[in-house]
Amino acid sequence: MSDRAASAERVVRLLIEDEWVEGTGERIPVVDPSTGAAIATLATADAHDVDRAVRAARIAFDDGPWARMRPKERARLLWRVAELIDADAEKLGALESLDTGKPLHIARDIELPAAAEAFRYYAGWATKLSGQTKNVSLPGEWLAMTLREPIGVAGLIVPWNSPLLMAATKLAPALAAGCTAVLKPAELTPLSAERLGELILEAGIPPGVVSIVPGLGSIAGQTLAEHSLVDKITFTGSTAVGKHLLATVAGTLKRITLELGGKSPVVVFSDADLGRAIPSAAMGVFANTGQICGAGSRLFVDESVADEVISGIADIARDLRIGGGQEPGVQIGPVISDAQRTRVLSYVYSAPEDGAEVVVGGSPIERPGFFVEPTVVRVENPMARIAREEVFGPVLTVQTFSARESVETIALRANDSDYGLSSSIWTRDITRAHRLARRLRAGEVRINTAFGMDEDMPFGGTKQSGWGKEYGGEGVEAYTQLKSVTVDITP
Ligand code: NAP
Ligand code: MG
Repeated sequence: MSDRAASAERVVRLLIEDEWVEGTGERIPVVDPSTGAAIATLATADAHDVDRAVRAARIAFDDGPWARMRPKERARLLWRVAELIDADAEKLGALESLDTGKPLHIARDIELPAAAEAFRYYAGWATKLSGQTKNVSLPGEWLAMTLREPIGVAGLIVPWNSPLLMAATKLAPALAAGCTAVLKPAELTPLSAERLGELILEAGIPPGVVSIVPGLGSIAGQTLAEHSLVDKITFTGSTAVGKHLLATVAGTLKRITLELGGKSPVVVFSDADLGRAIPSAAMGVFANTGQICGAGSRLFVDESVADEVISGIADIARDLRIGGGQEPGVQIGPVISDAQRTRVLSYVYSAPEDGAEVVVGGSPIERPGFFVEPTVVRVENPMARIAREEVFGPVLTVQTFSARESVETIALRANDSDYGLSSSIWTRDITRAHRLARRLRAGEVRINTAFGMDEDMPFGGTKQSGWGKEYGGEGVEAYTQLKSVTVDITP
């Protein structure tokens, strides 16, 4: 199916157990954001389809071989998925680029290998999950231990900004832990998940262990979150939907991990290596057309170097090669949809009302597809909407601070946000860097870099950026639970 050329007649299917079926919900076009043209039709999963997938996952967990399979064998199958992803790089990378508009080289050479690495990294964890023996003080002689067990059926709900990578980041630890999974891709970007499903079956993962139900959030996602046979939800998406899901899972008290939005500060001191700080700050917000949850979208810069930093970033914004995902040499693509473009521009258009000044960009790019100019906005009013809300587009706000401001004051200003996902600091002064790092309320701090993600580094926000961590040992433990077992061995 995924071999078929892009055409509106091509129907994207659901994977339920080991069957490929058309969803029985509404049919919606799958659009290439680089052109606005329909490239396929998604027969969305409705509540009945999701229910079937969940029941298959439940049976596969309760009765199937997966949870009780030797960890070594699970590891081998996950590693096999990684190999198949790598071997499929041309096809899978092209599908992802077509569906999201992101440049082909980013989809194929950066995100696809990262998705494969997630499977390799968590393949290694399958054999390393364990409980502990405990030193109890009960009278007599005891053997007491904790067993670390898979939590059960995991519902995985992912957004459209990096669909393959997001799916891998959730599937790999869920499967390593011994869970079975129902994946709900975003309705806007169902293509790479469909191909991934084919590779998962080809790898030999048993039927029912992974089902894939692309569909509307309000129907397919909602059904998954409400379902009494689902034990855990892992969600990446907006803070608004995250809060709604939290309320929804209260109905069944299922566990939940939330990776939500951000408005991440980037602090540039006057002693920073500006030759590195300027391009990093620019690409930290313009990469993936700003559609990255950890994007460094709020720049704080020492006023003595502000002109140099702002004009350096503005020059990069003007010079970026913007175009369709499949065009050679393109650095950034369109935003995901017409609605997203309207949303991004509404922030920019209303910014002057809050006293903000657009330094560069700020307009749509007149060509087919959903293109927005990379935009830099100077804003001294910390209450300005554009400086507070997540734009999720290629828009950087810039505020200045004076050399007289203390690390504590700068931290207060950087922390003045509902969000707390990522942050970065640029300075050559290690004392200042680490004092500020301790004071920033964020899930991660990147010092002298805009990019610090690795499979072994836990990722996840504080405040309204989320609950829990993905990646690292914490990322796989989130799909497990402990059981205490005590044995009286008193003679
Ligand atoms: P979204 O609207 O929250 O959607 C995310 C996913 O949730 C989609 O699959 C969506 O389905 C689904 N959904 C929507 N309503 C639902 C409901 N009532 N019940 C269950 N599922 C539901 O977010 P988005 O606009 O796609 O993505 C952008 C947001 O994601 C940004 O705020 C960004 O910061 C955040 N994000 C966070 C991270 C992170 O790791 N923290 C990473 C990437 C993105 P549809 O298919 O209908 O859209
Ligand atoms: Mg699309």
